[in-house]
Amino acid sequence: MSETILSISGLDAGYGDFQALYRVDLSVNAGEVVAVIGANGAGKTTLMRSVSGLIKTAPETVVWQNQGIGALRADQIAAKGIALVPEGRQLFKSLSVEENLIIGGQLGRKGPWNLRRIYDLFPILEERRDVPATSLSGGQQQMVAIGRALMSNPDLLLMDEISLGLAPVIIKSIYDALPGIVGEGLAAIVVEQDIAKALSVSSRVYCLQEGRVSLTGASHDISREAISRAYFGV
Ligand code: ATP
Repeated sequence: MSETILSISGLDAGYGDFQALYRVDLSVNAGEVVAVIGANGAGKTTLMRSVSGLIKTAPETVVWQNQGIGALRADQIAAKGIALVPEGRQLFKSLSVEENLIIGGQLGRKGPWNLRRIYDLFPILEERRDVPATSLSGGQQQMVAIGRALMSNPDLLLMDEISLGLAPVIIKSIYDALPGIVGEGLAAIVVEQDIAKALSVSSRVYCLQEGRVSLTGASHDISREAISRAYFGV
């Protein structure tokens, strides 16, 4: 059993008076892929924001490599090795593909990822390295967003709905790249609305329903019925 690197216990989070997450518990082991599924508005993005520091939480509810990080800023958390691939990609519009990637590397963390490896992973990005990132197709922009996160040499990658709005063939090519990304000590939380995809890439899954964990278990032996109940509440 590998070591737990992220441990979330009793996480409450929200926006002003609105509470979006209730007492959420979740853990990730080194090198593991964990899927988070749930319907629109279930709280998946709020969970990713809480881990990455975009939403502050009680310090000890999010523990990363044995340190409470709930009260740290996003840049402090990124420097500790947690990288977010945000929903909607959020690339720097005026910058080229390569400049977007280089920005990801500016934290100066040491590790296996550099421009060469990103271009080997997604060769189309090397061909298009000098064009504005926003002139790429949606799938290629998603590759830039993943590459930018990897350039920070994280220990945990948070991938928030990376397949949203992309054609099935593009989604397949991005997910096919995943085994070449994780491992080597890099863990990932994959937030997905595509349940089959989420289960196929992960070792464990958490389902959120209205801000609460409604189901968790090993991805390969969770039943369709249990997921339907946990996902839709039926
Ligand atoms: P989706 O798949 O639609 O992105 P989600 O599971 O990621 O859904 P969240 O985006 O985390 O869900 O939203 C959880 C709840 O928080 C929803 O009720 C949503 O309306 C609310 N919410 C999200 N962002 C904000 C915000 N900035 N201000 C106020 N409420 C918000």
